[in-house]
Amino acid sequence: MRKDWMLIGCLTLALPLILGAGLPTLGPVPAPTPRAEDPSPRAGSEPAAYPDQPLKVPVPPAKPDPARTDKAAQEPAAPASSAPPAPSEKHTPTEHLAKDQDLGGSDALAARDRSEIAKEEPEAFAACIGALKAIGARFLEIDRIEDGQTCGIDKPIELDTVLPGIRLEPKGILRCETALQLALMTRDMLRPAADAAFPGRPKLTAIRQASTYICRNRNSADDGKVSEHAYGNAIDIAGLRFGNEEMPVMIARQDDGTSEAAFQRAFNAIACLYFTTVLSPGSDATHQDHMHLDVITRRGGFRYCR
Ligand SMILES: [Zn+2]
Repeated sequence: MRKDWMLIGCLTLALPLILGAGLPTLGPVPAPTPRAEDPSPRAGSEPAAYPDQPLKVPVPPAKPDPARTDKAAQEPAAPASSAPPAPSEKHTPTEHLAKDQDLGGSDALAARDRSEIAKEEPEAFAACIGALKAIGARFLEIDRIEDGQTCGIDKPIELDTVLPGIRLEPKGILRCETALQLALMTRDMLRPAADAAFPGRPKLTAIRQASTYICRNRNSADDGKVSEHAYGNAIDIAGLRFGNEEMPVMIARQDDGTSEAAFQRAFNAIACLYFTTVLSPGSDATHQDHMHLDVITRRGGFRYCR
């Protein structure tokens, strides 16, 4: 009986050793391998690439908005997406640009030698007339104008109404392209800007022009280069009418905080999206009381806006 108890005791003590000898030896357990693709950051560990955002999911740097880059402000602005492309060299009468044109702020800025009135390219002209009608402008197609060898328009129009409800006062003679840019600018930018600046006031009802087609040299000088007005490419805007109220066009001081000043600054900027030359009041001695706009084509699509 005593032997039995001793046997049981020995077996009890030896059993773990016997069993242990038959089991595989447990080695050190490897730490779980971090998954390389696991994007979740770990608390307390700062991703080296984003030292300022240790606990946030890394975010790639925001892409610059192409519409808001400084580059857009520094370089000649492109026409708004809704606007048609700038007049092509094929149908504009401004294709004979001098290589070193004068950008010194005079009325018409590109020189050219012309021996005859430039012909409108038929397809482009038809497209322009169609676009102008679709916008709701009112105009007449009038006979070709030929004033000597230097002035004239192949297919002039007499513009009476820029948009439904917004007249050109007085009506003026222009190339279709010039009228179309005026109508697009007014519809897409100028009228909405006026609505934003002057809520509750009478709506924009007229654009007051001071000059459209006229056979003259730049700045009405006796000699020198011919003005873009002499080709129907230019319009001078003296003011805008809101109901019975007239507002002259001007350059507002930067420290003028009125909505009128904000609107005038907007108008200066808007015009450069549709016209390739903008000479605002005050930009030089001959542009004190009107804004000169023209659709001249320059090498590389360059715009001159002051
Ligand atoms: Zn002018």
